[in-house]
Amino acid sequence: MPLRYLFIDMNAFFASVEQQDDPSLRGRPVAVIPTDARTTACIAASYEAKARGVKTGTAVWEAEKLCPGIVFVVARHLRYVQMHNRILDAVGSCIPIDRVMSIDEMSCKLLGAERGPDQAMEIARRIKTAIRERAGDAMRCSIGVGPNEMLAKVAADMRKPDGLVVLRDNELPAALHRLALRDFPGIGPRMERRFNLYGIFTVQQLCAAPAKTLATVWGSRLIGEKWFRLLRGEDVPDKPGRRQTVSHSHILPPNLRTDAGAYGVLVRLTHKAAARLRKINYWAGAVSVGVSYQGEPGTVPDPVGWGRASWEAGCRFPHRQDTPGILEEVGNLWRGRPPGGVPMKVGMVLADLLPARSATPSLFEEDRRRTDLSHAMDGVNRECGANVIYFGSMFGLRDAAPTRIAFTQIPDFDRGVT
Ligand SMILES: [Mg+2]
Repeated sequence: MPLRYLFIDMNAFFASVEQQDDPSLRGRPVAVIPTDARTTACIAASYEAKARGVKTGTAVWEAEKLCPGIVFVVARHLRYVQMHNRILDAVGSCIPIDRVMSIDEMSCKLLGAERGPDQAMEIARRIKTAIRERAGDAMRCSIGVGPNEMLAKVAADMRKPDGLVVLRDNELPAALHRLALRDFPGIGPRMERRFNLYGIFTVQQLCAAPAKTLATVWGSRLIGEKWFRLLRGEDVPDKPGRRQTVSHSHILPPNLRTDAGAYGVLVRLTHKAAARLRKINYWAGAVSVGVSYQGEPGTVPDPVGWGRASWEAGCRFPHRQDTPGILEEVGNLWRGRPPGGVPMKVGMVLADLLPARSATPSLFEEDRRRTDLSHAMDGVNRECGANVIYFGSMFGLRDAAPTRIAFTQIPDFDRGVT
């Protein structure tokens, strides 16, 4: 099996950002907390703190007991996103990024000569240097190289911090045997108990299990077969038809062909797309928005693509599925557009979609609240008819974009699959 994937996992990301920005914290146990309160729990711990048993989820009082002298720092969400973007730039300067899994994880596909172990290691070293140069010395990462994305991720987890592990063909599956079941992405406490129930306690047993057994444990023939193949180093493509984007666009009625009108409709479309995203249970990692402008008087706007005079912009962000967060990104993009022109059509696309199962839900209370709030809104809107509840910026525009189509009935034509 060739080495097809390189996986990058930032080490103790939030805590490392704090150590990067404040040199007095380097070499010291640091924990990042969501708010300055003793009742809260750590959302990240530096390696110095980890060594004393502090980890994500450890209560503040407990962390103090485990690790006297630990420094608590309140999370700075925006700063972490800035650093995330720098890291994307750094990695992107060495090799194209294939997927961004979360704020501190991304994977790249290796092609051609890059698939040699020495070449892959050389790329990994270049990535580490680029990250140090662009984000700082305290920003370390573990890199794994493997025949598929899952094994590359497992390889990245094998040595921390600052690791570089290549899972060569001739080392599989023996190299995996020293791992625990829980070291595999997708095997949490519940799945581990299920595996145990079927007599699988070690990774050696996991690797030896027939596809049929794995299917029984997972409760799905498809997933069982996928795992069987992944453990053998096959590159199992995501099932065909896996959703790539959710998109909505709308031709503006004459009374809304103004900046404010166009933005209002865009907000409405964003609201609808985010609800759709939650309904299909995906998380988005990128959004783009576009406007096409009125051309010659009397010309009919192109009903499919953008008109000739158009503007489009996009951005990436840590995966999310809440309406306010996505609206914020859309608003930022919108403010960056050049002035002038009569808007005819607006649209937006949510991209870089991840099924909820593989997305890392945000550790930030605020984000979680936003996601919960969004789900609650979906519930009310489902019960009481689309758009009984909506965000303030949509006020007065409730009926402008096609609200006739309820969220639950959005047919396939408005899903843009690219
Ligand atoms: Mg990490």
